[in-house]
Amino acid sequence: MIFSVTTHADVQTQFQLPQAVEYQKTITTPDEFLGYPMGKWHLRHDQLNFYIKTLAKQSPRVTLEDSGISHEDRQQLSLLITSENNHRNINDILAKRAAVKNGGPSTGPLVVWLAYSIHGDEASGVHAAMELSYYLSASNEPWVKSLLEETVVIITPSQNPDGMDRFATWANNNRSNTFNADSNNREHHQLWPRGRMNHYLADLNRDWLFLRHPESQGRVKLFHKWQPHYVGDFHEMGHNASYFFQPGVPSRTHPLTPKANQQLTDKIANYHRSALDAAGQPYYSKQSFDDFFYGKGSTYPDINGAIGVLFEQASARGQAQDSPNGVVTLTRAVQNQFATSISSLKGTLALKNELHQYQNDFFKNKQSDSKRQQGILVSTSTDTQRRDEFSNLLEQHQIQYRYLTQSINKRDTNFTPSDSLFIPLEQPQSDLIKALFDKRTEFEDETFYDVSSFDLAAAFDLITSDKTSLKAPQLTEKSPTNKALAINSNSVAVLFDWQQSASAKVLQQLLANNVVVKYSQKPFAVKDEHSTKQFGAGSLQINLRQDDISRNQLIKLLKSLGNKHRLKPISVSTFASVSGGDLGSPDFKQIQPVKPLLITGGGSNPMEVGQIWHYLDNTLNMPVTLTEGSRLKRINLSGYSHVLFAHGNYHSLDDVTASKLKSFVKQGGTIVAQKGALRWLRKHDLLASELFDNKQAQELFDTKGLSFGDKSALRAKQTIGGAIVNIDLDLTHPLSYGLSHPRLKIMKNNILSFSANKKPFVASAQYAKQPLSSGFMAQEYQHVYSQQSAVVTESLGRGQVIGFADNLLFRNIWLGSEKIYANALFFAPSSL
Ligand SMILES: [Zn+2]
Repeated sequence: MIFSVTTHADVQTQFQLPQAVEYQKTITTPDEFLGYPMGKWHLRHDQLNFYIKTLAKQSPRVTLEDSGISHEDRQQLSLLITSENNHRNINDILAKRAAVKNGGPSTGPLVVWLAYSIHGDEASGVHAAMELSYYLSASNEPWVKSLLEETVVIITPSQNPDGMDRFATWANNNRSNTFNADSNNREHHQLWPRGRMNHYLADLNRDWLFLRHPESQGRVKLFHKWQPHYVGDFHEMGHNASYFFQPGVPSRTHPLTPKANQQLTDKIANYHRSALDAAGQPYYSKQSFDDFFYGKGSTYPDINGAIGVLFEQASARGQAQDSPNGVVTLTRAVQNQFATSISSLKGTLALKNELHQYQNDFFKNKQSDSKRQQGILVSTSTDTQRRDEFSNLLEQHQIQYRYLTQSINKRDTNFTPSDSLFIPLEQPQSDLIKALFDKRTEFEDETFYDVSSFDLAAAFDLITSDKTSLKAPQLTEKSPTNKALAINSNSVAVLFDWQQSASAKVLQQLLANNVVVKYSQKPFAVKDEHSTKQFGAGSLQINLRQDDISRNQLIKLLKSLGNKHRLKPISVSTFASVSGGDLGSPDFKQIQPVKPLLITGGGSNPMEVGQIWHYLDNTLNMPVTLTEGSRLKRINLSGYSHVLFAHGNYHSLDDVTASKLKSFVKQGGTIVAQKGALRWLRKHDLLASELFDNKQAQELFDTKGLSFGDKSALRAKQTIGGAIVNIDLDLTHPLSYGLSHPRLKIMKNNILSFSANKKPFVASAQYAKQPLSSGFMAQEYQHVYSQQSAVVTESLGRGQVIGFADNLLFRNIWLGSEKIYANALFFAPSSL
């Protein structure tokens, strides 16, 4: 046996700044600041921020932009590096940036934004950004001086501060003193949940459109403030790879991205090619990575008038790791990222005029001053909060919208001022609007490993009227006001419509305050002072005489919750209904407090765990206990109402755990599980419904006559990267309460579904006859799903096992199907 021994001497272990350059002596170098050579230990976020604050104090070229804090309260700073002259005229430069969006010429300095390490365990970016920040602050080279005259360089060194620190701690904790590049070393294998994601285990590089996290919200605000010409997005990939930069696969670019974007990207890439050739670093482009989903950092710019470029460096994932291309070290990786940062600056500077022209062309002729406007009319079917949530998102993307001054009837829908919006199509962000409502199902290239559709109308469960033409008097910028809850001395009860999305949050607050809340199992109608009001099943009733809380306290609580969440509860002075059961009828059931236990750790999918966690913690403000699956055996489950499983394989959970869960359910507990977790439940007899799974899926595809070269195309066809599908709901089922129409669109990004169930009352949602709404899904699947179920509830003893074939909380943006999850929490225990 031959052992290959790599030593320190064989590999570069120290970062080298460009030599023979005169640096300003008054500027502290990274090494001086750290007290050791940069890269010896993985940087922590506090060190980074302290250093860039030092640069801002020392260099007149540097100021800092604050784009808010991360979930864990880490400050997200970006450096603005430009000449002193430009700093003096910064307001003028910003005004020019804003003017471009309104069709004005793109003039003044170029704005180049370099952003690093949005995945926290892709550490070379943040280290390179530290060196680059020093270099641009201190170098006296003529080219740097002319760069800073002609460019405003924005550097965001760490786009995911919480993930960065999680990884730095791991890598530093597990690093030995003696050089060792062995891939098996613990430092290269982070334990669950890894540093890639943020605090709530979200992949921030999928959040640029959805903006569910503060890190993304601050970032998109910064983007629109500066409207950059070029955005470099620096990542790492597997340690066995080389170096990648865009353009990506040409056939996998989103069709709404202008052709000129890809051409300019390729021209700039020539500068990366030269830089990496000079360093002897192998690289590639136009393969592997796509330019399709606009929710990524390198693609969001492409639909917003800028050129976004993705960089991927082979990762050392620690200090040093053996690979087929030799030892990958952190410092070598930093050196490469530094090199392509410089080539980005040199390339954009050389192509300055073309970049200005590109931005001119992008925003040209998008405005209209006509009194009649064409646009998209959207409604949330009486749900004001969901409408407001949607308008808030549009605003962050600088998409203009208007409220209605009066109700409008279109396509059998009453679009009212309280639940509707109008989005004019002639506006600077018209391309982004088209992308956000895009419903295509046919593609030049069918390879999608992430979502192939991101139709926001589906995510928000919107009713839309696409080509609506409205006149100025029908539209207003002013948000309609909500009527406050009126309760008088003879009021006996307050009613909340469960269709209002904030009802779930309010319900949780009421339960937490020991208020008895009942929900209706059937629709009913009551009369208040003004008129007859219809309520759907699931509507909440709060009797104003309660044992644990005084009437005045309760009224105060109801009013403050109603106002805070813009809910429209009504009060009634009689328990008699106009139709349906009276308010004292057995149709109303008491809701039990929810105490959930969420399974985390090895075997569970961290991102989907994070989405459930985020939903419970931040949307519902419900205390949730997170536990490692391996601890289940030791936990007394009787104190919990629900055990929640995200997607995962759960291989490590054994029979003892399964039988413990079985008795938990038999005694009245509820299990809610999705996707891969269903396999584990079925294997351990906790679920009886049969699954349509990978094995059956493989048999669907005709592989006769395929050659080896067809293998990747077949794999792409068999993958459901993320398509939007139609499901048909049983609206009388408690899991469907609060949804206003039987057709709902959900995100499907896995194969699993429930085979046709012969037992009655088990399935509450079926895939529709024509399941595909938008995105790519092979015909073979479309045919099969049209006969399958998406949601099942099985009784076991006194409890239930609820199965979702799909992730109904997808990236915390699927506010339509989120309601089904709320129903499983609040209604399942007492009603099924
Ligand atoms: Zn990455």
